[in-house]
Amino acid sequence: MTIGGGVPVGALRDRVEAGFRAAVADLVKLVEIPGIAWPAFDPAHLDHSAEAVAGLLRDAGVSNVRIVRGAGQNGKPGGPAVLARKPAAAGQPTVLLYAHHDVQPPGDPEQWSAPAFTAVERDGRLWGRGVADDKAGIIMHLAAYRALTDMLGAGFGLGVTFFIEGEEESGSPTLDGLLNVHEEQLRADVVIVADSANWQVGVPALTTSLRGLVDGLIEVEAFDHGLHSGTFGGPVLDAVTLLARLIATFHDGDGAVTIRGLPAVKNPAAPEADIDEKEFRAQASLPNALQLAGTGSIAWRLWNGPALSIIGLDVPGTAVASNTLLPSARAKFSLRLAPGTDPDKAMEAVRRHVLANAPFGAEVRFVPGSASAPFSASPHDQASRTALWAMEQAWGVAPVRMGVGGSIPVVEHLAGRFPEATILITGAEDPDSRAHGPDESVHLGDLQNGILAEALLLAALGNKRRG
Ligand SMILES: [Zn+2]
Repeated sequence: MTIGGGVPVGALRDRVEAGFRAAVADLVKLVEIPGIAWPAFDPAHLDHSAEAVAGLLRDAGVSNVRIVRGAGQNGKPGGPAVLARKPAAAGQPTVLLYAHHDVQPPGDPEQWSAPAFTAVERDGRLWGRGVADDKAGIIMHLAAYRALTDMLGAGFGLGVTFFIEGEEESGSPTLDGLLNVHEEQLRADVVIVADSANWQVGVPALTTSLRGLVDGLIEVEAFDHGLHSGTFGGPVLDAVTLLARLIATFHDGDGAVTIRGLPAVKNPAAPEADIDEKEFRAQASLPNALQLAGTGSIAWRLWNGPALSIIGLDVPGTAVASNTLLPSARAKFSLRLAPGTDPDKAMEAVRRHVLANAPFGAEVRFVPGSASAPFSASPHDQASRTALWAMEQAWGVAPVRMGVGGSIPVVEHLAGRFPEATILITGAEDPDSRAHGPDESVHLGDLQNGILAEALLLAALGNKRRG
């Protein structure tokens, strides 16, 4: 009946509060290490960053702390991940705690109010590159674990695995291989991915859906070679016009995606929150006159509907344009997929749509690209309900179940590999955190509440028997 029955909420709250300044001090130290997993940056910082995380876990009493790497291309090792594991007592579940310690490059130093890799505390927030994305995620896991060990002693029965990735911001090129090698160590009943955001400062959120993505090329080969537009234009349409007519069939007059056979999905776990149109327009700096596309609430369109964009065109630039009917043209499309959509079926639907809508009998080729699956949490699973309960206890405010229009690749990797595990997506960011931008920051009150929510969630999961 009571989801958190038996969890000593007040005592854990006190432990988290007592340990919070130490947690902030650890976050400051992590922020000062510029570990960036891009080829242009010194990999020694990334190693140092992994060692610092490993050191914090060892100091917290976590056993079996190791730095592991996937095998990259040409035998070059991938970014250093930190793997640590406290095995479960018999009959107890195991929770996998995921975050990443690598960060985005800082960009133009002129845009920062203070040096990017010097953590500064101001206005109730901590500022610096990676402070929110995703070193706050590491701190949430670490400080929640410390609060729990503080209270229960190291012998508590819940199995806890830490997996702190070291190359997320460069697209996790060796993650799959790493998961292959360490699959058994990473297997868990519940996964907490702390790399997302809260709804706003003071209002927690559980991210319950992510869109998937398929992309590919559409090529129109209209005729054999360029034709003089005066001699042939009129009876003959050029390939760019033909391609544009084909692209125009992707949306109806309202701007809604019209690909036939793109499965309509009813998502029972559809997030309930909505987004204010004014705020949405302001975030994107849209001109007032520009109309939004599609129908339904903005949140539905962003999180629970498809989105098709043309993200590249191969046509001659205007500087070299001549009065020629172009024989061929190529576009790259990107289709975001609603939760519940099978990416292979979506790719096939686009292929059929493209071939069925070949304009004026032009030869059209479809070249499929990459495909990644969307994610949707079950609305009924016990772990999600417990997470929502824990957030409400920590903040004293009802949490929002929100979606994210993009994807978090590690979620797809883990969901594919451990289909029986429940994946919970949390995080310490808020709409002002400016992850990836200058002046990144995290709200310290929300960070503390996030630590408490995670400690409560772990305590409640540890109260349950497995299965
Ligand atoms: Zn991140």
